[in-house]
Amino acid sequence: MKSLLSAKNESINLVVGAGFSGAVIAERIANALDEKVVIIDKNNYIGGLASDYMTRSGIRVNKFGHHVFHTDKKFIWDYVNSFSNFCPVSQKTFAVIDGIKVSIPVNISTLHILFPESLAKKMEYKLLNLFSYNSEVSVDELRKFNDTDLQFLADYISDKLVFPYSAKLWQDFMPEIERKQFPYAFIRISNDSRLYTTKYQGIPKKGYIDLMENMLKNHNIELCLNTDYNYMISKNFKRIFFTGSIDDCFNYKFGMLQYKSVKMQFENIENPAQERRLLVKYPQDFDFSAEHNFVTNDAGISAKEYWTDYIYGENERAFPVLNKQNCELYNKYFDYAKSFNKIYFFGRQGNFNTCSMADAVEQALNLFDNLYGNSSSNYMVDSVVDNCR
Ligand SMILES: Cc1cc2nc3c(=O)[nH]c(=O)nc-3n(C[C@H](O)[C@H](O)[C@H](O)COP(=O)(O)OP(=O)(O)OC[C@H]3O[C@@H](n4cnc5c(N)ncnc54)[C@H](O)[C@@H]3O)c2cc1C
Repeated sequence: MKSLLSAKNESINLVVGAGFSGAVIAERIANALDEKVVIIDKNNYIGGLASDYMTRSGIRVNKFGHHVFHTDKKFIWDYVNSFSNFCPVSQKTFAVIDGIKVSIPVNISTLHILFPESLAKKMEYKLLNLFSYNSEVSVDELRKFNDTDLQFLADYISDKLVFPYSAKLWQDFMPEIERKQFPYAFIRISNDSRLYTTKYQGIPKKGYIDLMENMLKNHNIELCLNTDYNYMISKNFKRIFFTGSIDDCFNYKFGMLQYKSVKMQFENIENPAQERRLLVKYPQDFDFSAEHNFVTNDAGISAKEYWTDYIYGENERAFPVLNKQNCELYNKYFDYAKSFNKIYFFGRQGNFNTCSMADAVEQALNLFDNLYGNSSSNYMVDSVVDNCR
Protein backbone atom coordinates (compact mmCIF):
# COMPACT_ATOMS: atom_id res chain seq x y z
CA MET A 1 0.00 0.00 0.00
CA LYS A 2 1.24 3.46 -0.88
CA SER A 3 2.17 5.47 2.19
CA LEU A 4 -0.02 8.46 2.96
CA LEU A 5 3.18 10.41 3.47
CA SER A 6 3.88 10.33 -0.24
CA ALA A 7 0.46 11.88 -0.93
CA LYS A 8 -0.24 15.60 -0.81
CA ASN A 9 0.16 16.38 2.89
CA GLU A 10 -2.20 19.39 2.89
CA SER A 11 -5.13 16.98 3.00
CA ILE A 12 -3.66 14.83 5.78
CA ASN A 13 -3.86 15.28 9.54
CA LEU A 14 -0.78 14.51 11.61
CA VAL A 15 -1.17 13.10 15.12
CA VAL A 16 2.00 13.08 17.21
CA GLY A 17 1.92 10.37 19.88
CA ALA A 18 0.05 7.06 19.84
CA GLY A 19 -1.04 7.02 23.49
CA PHE A 20 -4.69 7.40 24.53
CA SER A 21 -4.89 11.08 23.54
CA GLY A 22 -3.47 10.54 20.07
CA ALA A 23 -5.40 7.33 19.40
CA VAL A 24 -8.75 8.95 20.25
CA ILE A 25 -8.29 12.01 18.05
CA ALA A 26 -6.99 9.86 15.17
CA GLU A 27 -9.96 7.50 15.49
CA ARG A 28 -12.47 10.38 15.53
CA ILE A 29 -11.00 12.15 12.50
CA ALA A 30 -10.74 8.93 10.49
CA ASN A 31 -14.13 7.46 11.45
CA ALA A 32 -16.35 10.49 11.91
CA LEU A 33 -14.87 12.81 9.28
CA ASP A 34 -13.53 10.22 6.85
CA GLU A 35 -10.26 12.17 6.62
CA LYS A 36 -6.73 10.81 6.32
CA VAL A 37 -4.53 10.65 9.41
CA VAL A 38 -0.87 9.83 9.89
CA ILE A 39 -0.19 8.97 13.53
CA ILE A 40 3.43 8.76 14.62
CA ASP A 41 5.18 7.66 17.78
CA LYS A 42 8.85 7.97 18.59
CA ASN A 43 8.70 4.60 20.35
CA ASN A 44 8.38 1.19 18.74
CA TYR A 45 5.02 0.55 20.44
CA ILE A 46 1.63 2.21 20.75
CA GLY A 47 -0.21 2.92 24.00
CA GLY A 48 2.16 5.45 25.55
CA LEU A 49 2.20 5.15 29.33
CA ALA A 50 -0.76 2.74 29.20
CA SER A 51 1.15 0.31 26.99
CA ASP A 52 1.11 -3.41 27.90
CA TYR A 53 2.25 -6.76 26.57
CA MET A 54 1.70 -10.49 27.06
CA THR A 55 4.57 -12.65 28.30
CA ARG A 56 5.22 -16.13 26.91
CA SER A 57 3.67 -17.61 30.05
CA GLY A 58 0.46 -15.69 29.38
CA ILE A 59 0.80 -12.86 31.89
CA ARG A 60 -0.40 -9.46 30.75
CA VAL A 61 2.01 -6.85 32.07
CA ASN A 62 1.69 -3.06 32.00
CA LYS A 63 5.01 -1.49 30.99
CA PHE A 64 4.52 1.32 33.53
CA GLY A 65 2.62 -0.44 36.31
CA HIS A 66 -1.02 -1.35 36.89
CA HIS A 67 -3.41 0.81 34.88
CA VAL A 68 -7.12 0.81 35.71
CA PHE A 69 -9.48 2.74 33.47
CA HIS A 70 -11.90 4.62 35.73
CA THR A 71 -14.54 7.24 35.17
CA ASP A 72 -17.94 8.39 36.38
CA LYS A 73 -18.90 9.52 32.89
CA LYS A 74 -21.02 7.08 30.96
CA PHE A 75 -20.19 8.51 27.53
CA ILE A 76 -16.47 7.94 28.11
CA TRP A 77 -17.06 4.42 29.40
CA ASP A 78 -19.35 3.64 26.42
CA TYR A 79 -16.76 5.08 24.05
CA VAL A 80 -13.86 2.90 25.25
CA ASN A 81 -16.13 -0.14 25.56
CA SER A 82 -16.95 0.16 21.88
CA PHE A 83 -13.34 -0.85 21.10
CA SER A 84 -12.86 -3.61 23.66
CA ASN A 85 -14.72 -5.58 26.25
CA PHE A 86 -13.60 -4.66 29.74
CA CYS A 87 -13.09 -6.88 32.79
CA PRO A 88 -14.42 -5.27 35.94
CA VAL A 89 -11.57 -4.57 38.35
CA SER A 90 -11.53 -3.10 41.83
CA GLN A 91 -7.90 -2.21 42.28
CA LYS A 92 -6.86 -2.42 45.91
CA THR A 93 -3.73 -0.64 46.94
CA PHE A 94 -1.75 -1.18 50.08
CA ALA A 95 0.97 0.75 51.81
CA VAL A 96 3.45 -0.55 54.32
CA ILE A 97 3.38 1.93 57.21
CA ASP A 98 5.63 1.26 60.17
CA GLY A 99 5.94 -2.33 58.91
CA ILE A 100 2.18 -2.90 58.77
CA LYS A 101 0.47 -3.50 55.42
CA VAL A 102 -2.74 -1.46 55.25
CA SER A 103 -5.18 -0.52 52.57
CA ILE A 104 -4.88 3.01 51.12
CA PRO A 105 -6.34 5.59 50.64
CA VAL A 106 -6.71 5.54 54.42
CA ASN A 107 -10.26 4.61 55.41
CA ILE A 108 -12.04 3.73 58.64
CA SER A 109 -10.90 0.09 58.59
CA THR A 110 -7.30 1.23 58.09
CA LEU A 111 -7.49 2.96 61.48
CA HIS A 112 -8.42 -0.32 63.18
CA ILE A 113 -5.29 -1.99 61.84
CA LEU A 114 -2.87 0.85 62.52
CA PHE A 115 -4.00 1.96 65.97
CA PRO A 116 -4.98 0.31 69.28
CA GLU A 117 -8.69 -0.50 69.24
CA SER A 118 -9.67 2.14 71.83
CA LEU A 119 -8.00 4.94 69.84
CA ALA A 120 -9.35 3.67 66.50
CA LYS A 121 -12.89 3.52 67.95
CA LYS A 122 -12.60 7.04 69.35
CA MET A 123 -11.42 8.39 65.98
CA GLU A 124 -14.10 6.49 64.10
CA TYR A 125 -16.80 7.91 66.37
CA LYS A 126 -15.55 11.48 65.91
CA LEU A 127 -15.16 11.16 62.13
CA LEU A 128 -18.63 9.67 61.67
CA ASN A 129 -20.14 12.44 63.78
CA LEU A 130 -18.41 15.25 61.96
CA PHE A 131 -18.45 14.16 58.33
CA SER A 132 -20.97 12.51 56.06
CA TYR A 133 -20.56 8.83 55.33
CA ASN A 134 -18.66 8.07 52.10
CA SER A 135 -17.08 11.53 51.95
CA GLU A 136 -13.33 12.13 51.62
CA VAL A 137 -11.81 14.56 54.10
CA SER A 138 -8.41 16.11 53.49
CA VAL A 139 -5.74 16.18 56.17
CA ASP A 140 -5.87 19.99 56.01
CA GLU A 141 -9.58 19.85 56.81
CA LEU A 142 -8.91 17.53 59.78
CA ARG A 143 -6.38 20.00 61.14
CA LYS A 144 -8.99 22.75 61.26
CA PHE A 145 -10.70 21.01 64.18
CA ASN A 146 -9.45 21.81 67.62
CA ASP A 147 -9.25 18.13 68.51
CA THR A 148 -6.07 16.32 69.51
CA ASP A 149 -7.16 12.97 68.05
CA LEU A 150 -7.98 14.46 64.64
CA GLN A 151 -4.78 16.53 64.66
CA PHE A 152 -2.85 13.38 65.50
CA LEU A 153 -4.55 11.51 62.66
CA ALA A 154 -3.78 14.30 60.17
CA ASP A 155 -0.12 14.37 61.22
CA TYR A 156 0.08 10.58 61.13
CA ILE A 157 -1.24 10.35 57.54
CA SER A 158 1.03 13.23 56.44
CA ASP A 159 4.21 12.11 58.18
CA LYS A 160 4.00 8.37 57.57
CA LEU A 161 2.40 8.25 54.12
CA VAL A 162 1.89 11.48 52.18
CA PHE A 163 5.21 13.28 52.69
CA PRO A 164 7.64 10.36 52.47
CA TYR A 165 5.79 8.95 49.45
CA SER A 166 5.73 12.32 47.65
CA ALA A 167 9.38 12.94 48.53
CA LYS A 168 10.33 9.71 46.74
CA LEU A 169 8.76 11.08 43.57
CA TRP A 170 9.69 14.75 43.66
CA GLN A 171 13.07 14.42 45.42
CA ASP A 172 14.89 17.80 45.09
CA PHE A 173 11.74 19.45 43.74
CA MET A 174 9.75 18.60 46.88
CA PRO A 175 9.80 22.12 48.44
CA GLU A 176 8.58 23.69 45.19
CA ILE A 177 5.69 21.35 44.51
CA GLU A 178 2.17 22.43 45.44
CA ARG A 179 0.66 20.24 48.17
CA LYS A 180 -2.26 19.34 45.97
CA GLN A 181 0.20 17.23 43.97
CA PHE A 182 0.77 14.98 46.99
CA PRO A 183 -1.30 11.79 46.74
CA TYR A 184 -3.33 10.11 49.51
CA ALA A 185 -3.61 13.29 51.66
CA PHE A 186 -7.12 12.44 52.84
CA ILE A 187 -9.20 9.89 54.74
CA ARG A 188 -12.24 8.15 53.35
CA ILE A 189 -15.19 8.15 55.78
CA SER A 190 -16.23 4.59 54.97
CA ASN A 191 -14.73 1.11 54.77
CA ASP A 192 -14.38 1.36 50.98
CA SER A 193 -10.89 0.01 50.32
CA ARG A 194 -10.85 0.37 46.54
CA LEU A 195 -8.26 2.67 44.98
CA TYR A 196 -10.89 4.28 42.76
CA THR A 197 -14.51 4.81 43.76
CA THR A 198 -15.79 5.78 40.32
CA LYS A 199 -18.94 4.21 38.90
CA TYR A 200 -17.14 2.58 35.99
CA GLN A 201 -13.76 0.89 36.29
CA GLY A 202 -11.99 -1.95 34.60
CA ILE A 203 -9.24 -3.10 32.29
CA PRO A 204 -9.59 -4.05 28.63
CA LYS A 205 -9.94 -7.84 28.35
CA LYS A 206 -7.19 -8.09 25.75
CA GLY A 207 -5.13 -5.21 27.06
CA TYR A 208 -4.65 -1.53 26.22
CA ILE A 209 -2.59 -2.07 23.08
CA ASP A 210 -5.36 -4.24 21.65
CA LEU A 211 -7.91 -1.53 22.52
CA MET A 212 -5.85 1.15 20.78
CA GLU A 213 -5.15 -1.09 17.78
CA ASN A 214 -8.93 -1.38 17.40
CA MET A 215 -9.23 2.41 17.58
CA LEU A 216 -6.65 2.79 14.84
CA LYS A 217 -8.10 0.05 12.61
CA ASN A 218 -9.24 2.23 9.72
CA HIS A 219 -8.15 2.57 6.10
CA ASN A 220 -7.79 6.32 6.68
CA ILE A 221 -5.12 5.84 9.35
CA GLU A 222 -1.44 5.16 8.81
CA LEU A 223 0.62 4.39 11.90
CA CYS A 224 4.38 5.11 11.83
CA LEU A 225 6.33 3.85 14.82
CA ASN A 226 9.95 4.78 15.59
CA THR A 227 9.15 8.15 14.06
CA ASP A 228 9.92 11.37 15.86
CA TYR A 229 8.13 14.62 15.09
CA ASN A 230 11.51 16.04 13.96
CA TYR A 231 11.16 13.89 10.89
CA MET A 232 7.82 15.54 10.01
CA ILE A 233 8.60 19.12 10.92
CA SER A 234 9.19 20.36 7.37
CA LYS A 235 6.04 18.74 5.97
CA ASN A 236 2.86 20.72 5.53
CA PHE A 237 -0.12 18.97 7.14
CA LYS A 238 -3.75 19.99 7.25
CA ARG A 239 -3.70 19.99 11.04
CA ILE A 240 -1.23 18.82 13.67
CA PHE A 241 -2.44 17.21 16.90
CA PHE A 242 0.48 17.17 19.29
CA THR A 243 0.35 14.97 22.41
CA GLY A 244 4.09 15.13 23.12
CA SER A 245 5.72 17.84 25.21
CA ILE A 246 5.20 21.39 23.90
CA ASP A 247 8.90 22.34 24.35
CA ASP A 248 9.85 19.41 22.11
CA CYS A 249 7.54 20.68 19.39
CA PHE A 250 9.40 24.00 19.31
CA ASN A 251 12.85 22.49 19.58
CA TYR A 252 13.33 23.73 23.18
CA LYS A 253 13.47 27.33 21.97
CA PHE A 254 12.80 28.77 25.46
CA GLY A 255 14.32 25.90 27.48
CA MET A 256 13.29 22.46 28.65
CA LEU A 257 10.25 21.59 30.75
CA GLN A 258 11.14 19.25 33.61
CA TYR A 259 9.52 15.88 34.18
CA LYS A 260 10.08 12.91 36.44
CA SER A 261 10.27 9.50 34.87
CA VAL A 262 9.41 6.01 36.02
CA LYS A 263 11.49 2.87 35.72
CA MET A 264 10.09 -0.61 36.25
CA GLN A 265 12.36 -3.48 37.25
CA PHE A 266 10.72 -6.78 36.34
CA GLU A 267 11.44 -10.19 37.77
CA ASN A 268 9.72 -13.57 37.75
CA ILE A 269 7.94 -14.68 40.90
CA GLU A 270 8.74 -18.29 41.72
CA ASN A 271 5.63 -18.99 43.80
CA PRO A 272 2.98 -16.55 42.64
CA ALA A 273 0.71 -15.24 45.39
CA GLN A 274 -3.02 -15.51 45.04
CA GLU A 275 -3.57 -11.77 44.73
CA ARG A 276 -3.41 -11.27 40.98
CA ARG A 277 -3.17 -7.50 40.90
CA LEU A 278 -1.27 -6.76 44.05
CA LEU A 279 -0.07 -3.17 44.33
CA VAL A 280 1.91 -2.26 47.42
CA LYS A 281 3.37 1.20 48.03
CA TYR A 282 6.42 1.71 50.21
CA PRO A 283 6.45 5.29 51.50
CA GLN A 284 9.03 4.61 54.22
CA ASP A 285 11.18 1.66 53.17
CA PHE A 286 13.36 0.79 50.18
CA ASP A 287 14.51 2.97 47.28
CA PHE A 288 11.64 1.81 45.07
CA SER A 289 8.22 3.34 45.60
CA ALA A 290 5.89 0.45 44.85
CA GLU A 291 5.69 -3.18 43.86
CA HIS A 292 3.21 -4.42 41.27
CA ASN A 293 2.38 -8.11 40.91
CA PHE A 294 0.99 -9.50 37.67
CA VAL A 295 -0.02 -13.08 38.36
CA THR A 296 -1.87 -15.93 36.66
CA ASN A 297 -2.62 -19.28 38.32
CA ASP A 298 0.88 -20.61 37.96
CA ALA A 299 3.15 -17.79 36.86
CA GLY A 300 3.88 -14.33 38.06
CA ILE A 301 5.90 -11.21 37.41
CA SER A 302 6.77 -8.64 39.98
CA ALA A 303 7.66 -5.08 38.99
CA LYS A 304 9.41 -2.67 41.29
CA GLU A 305 8.60 0.94 40.49
CA TYR A 306 11.43 3.47 40.76
CA TRP A 307 11.03 7.19 40.24
CA THR A 308 13.91 8.82 38.44
CA ASP A 309 14.77 12.06 36.69
CA TYR A 310 13.55 12.38 33.13
CA ILE A 311 16.52 12.39 30.76
CA TYR A 312 15.93 13.37 27.15
CA GLY A 313 16.22 10.37 24.81
CA GLU A 314 16.75 7.89 27.64
CA ASN A 315 13.41 7.43 29.36
CA GLU A 316 9.77 8.56 29.25
CA ARG A 317 8.15 11.73 30.54
CA ALA A 318 5.82 10.41 33.26
CA PHE A 319 5.15 13.22 35.77
CA PRO A 320 5.37 16.93 34.89
CA VAL A 321 7.19 18.88 37.59
CA LEU A 322 4.51 21.43 38.39
CA ASN A 323 6.55 24.14 40.08
CA LYS A 324 6.36 27.88 39.37
CA GLN A 325 9.30 27.90 36.96
CA ASN A 326 7.93 25.12 34.76
CA CYS A 327 4.39 26.47 34.77
CA GLU A 328 5.68 29.86 33.59
CA LEU A 329 7.78 28.18 30.92
CA TYR A 330 4.80 26.12 29.75
CA ASN A 331 2.68 29.29 29.50
CA LYS A 332 5.41 30.95 27.43
CA TYR A 333 5.37 28.05 24.97
CA PHE A 334 1.58 28.00 24.98
CA ASP A 335 1.41 31.74 24.11
CA TYR A 336 4.02 31.23 21.40
CA ALA A 337 2.00 28.31 19.99
CA LYS A 338 -0.99 30.62 19.49
CA SER A 339 0.82 32.26 16.58
CA PHE A 340 0.77 28.94 14.72
CA ASN A 341 -2.36 27.98 12.90
CA LYS A 342 -3.86 24.54 13.17
CA ILE A 343 -1.63 22.94 15.77
CA TYR A 344 -3.29 21.62 18.92
CA PHE A 345 -1.67 20.53 22.19
CA PHE A 346 -3.44 18.15 24.55
CA GLY A 347 -2.93 15.03 26.67
CA ARG A 348 -0.70 14.51 29.68
CA GLN A 349 2.40 16.02 28.09
CA GLY A 350 0.72 18.43 25.69
CA ASN A 351 -1.17 20.06 28.59
CA PHE A 352 1.78 19.64 30.98
CA ASN A 353 -0.49 18.25 33.67
CA THR A 354 -1.19 14.89 35.24
CA CYS A 355 -4.36 13.20 34.09
CA SER A 356 -5.99 9.79 34.10
CA MET A 357 -6.60 7.76 30.95
CA ALA A 358 -10.28 8.77 31.10
CA ASP A 359 -9.26 12.44 31.33
CA ALA A 360 -7.02 11.98 28.29
CA VAL A 361 -9.93 10.41 26.35
CA GLU A 362 -12.28 13.20 27.41
CA GLN A 363 -9.85 15.96 26.43
CA ALA A 364 -9.39 14.44 23.00
CA LEU A 365 -13.14 13.99 22.49
CA ASN A 366 -13.77 17.58 23.63
CA LEU A 367 -11.11 18.90 21.29
CA PHE A 368 -12.70 17.02 18.44
CA ASP A 369 -16.14 18.39 19.36
CA ASN A 370 -14.83 21.94 19.61
CA LEU A 371 -13.18 21.74 16.23
CA TYR A 372 -15.81 19.86 14.34
CA GLY A 373 -18.99 20.52 16.32
CA ASN A 374 -20.02 16.96 17.17
CA SER A 375 -21.83 16.04 20.35
CA SER A 376 -19.87 14.12 23.01
CA SER A 377 -22.75 11.82 23.76
CA ASN A 378 -23.13 10.44 20.28
CA TYR A 379 -20.03 8.79 18.89
CA MET A 380 -20.64 6.76 15.76
CA VAL A 381 -18.37 3.83 16.39
CA ASP A 382 -20.72 0.92 15.72
CA SER A 383 -18.76 -0.35 12.74
CA VAL A 384 -15.62 -0.52 14.87
CA VAL A 385 -17.43 -2.47 17.57
CA ASP A 386 -18.21 -5.22 15.10
CA ASN A 387 -14.56 -5.56 14.21
CA CYS A 388 -13.27 -6.23 17.66
CA ARG A 389 -15.78 -8.12 19.76
C1 LIG B 1 3.11 4.99 36.83
C2 LIG B 1 1.80 5.45 36.26
C3 LIG B 1 0.62 4.78 36.59
C4 LIG B 1 -0.61 5.23 36.08
N1 LIG B 1 -1.75 4.55 36.40
C5 LIG B 1 -2.93 4.98 35.90
C6 LIG B 1 -4.15 4.28 36.21
O1 LIG B 1 -4.17 3.28 36.93
N2 LIG B 1 -5.32 4.77 35.69
C7 LIG B 1 -5.34 5.90 34.88
O2 LIG B 1 -6.43 6.28 34.41
N3 LIG B 1 -4.20 6.54 34.55
C8 LIG B 1 -3.01 6.12 35.03
N4 LIG B 1 -1.86 6.78 34.70
C9 LIG B 1 -1.95 7.94 33.77
C10 LIG B 1 -2.05 7.48 32.29
O3 LIG B 1 -1.03 6.57 31.97
C11 LIG B 1 -1.89 8.68 31.37
O4 LIG B 1 -2.59 9.79 31.84
C12 LIG B 1 -2.38 8.43 29.96
O5 LIG B 1 -1.87 7.23 29.46
C13 LIG B 1 -1.94 9.63 29.12
O6 LIG B 1 -2.13 9.40 27.75
P1 LIG B 1 -1.51 10.43 26.71
O7 LIG B 1 -1.81 9.89 25.36
O8 LIG B 1 -1.97 11.82 27.00
O9 LIG B 1 0.06 10.45 26.99
P2 LIG B 1 1.15 9.32 26.79
O10 LIG B 1 0.63 8.00 27.18
O11 LIG B 1 2.38 9.82 27.48
O12 LIG B 1 1.40 9.31 25.20
C14 LIG B 1 2.15 10.30 24.55
C15 LIG B 1 2.86 9.62 23.38
O13 LIG B 1 3.52 10.61 22.58
C16 LIG B 1 4.74 10.08 22.11
N5 LIG B 1 5.63 11.21 21.78
C17 LIG B 1 6.05 12.18 22.61
N6 LIG B 1 6.85 13.05 21.93
C18 LIG B 1 6.92 12.61 20.66
C19 LIG B 1 7.61 13.08 19.50
N7 LIG B 1 8.38 14.18 19.50
N8 LIG B 1 7.47 12.37 18.35
C20 LIG B 1 6.71 11.24 18.33
N9 LIG B 1 6.04 10.75 19.41
C21 LIG B 1 6.15 11.43 20.55
C22 LIG B 1 5.24 9.26 23.30
O14 LIG B 1 6.16 8.28 22.90
C23 LIG B 1 3.93 8.65 23.83
O15 LIG B 1 3.69 7.38 23.27
C24 LIG B 1 -0.64 6.36 35.21
C25 LIG B 1 0.56 7.01 34.87
C26 LIG B 1 1.76 6.58 35.39
C27 LIG B 1 3.01 7.31 35.02
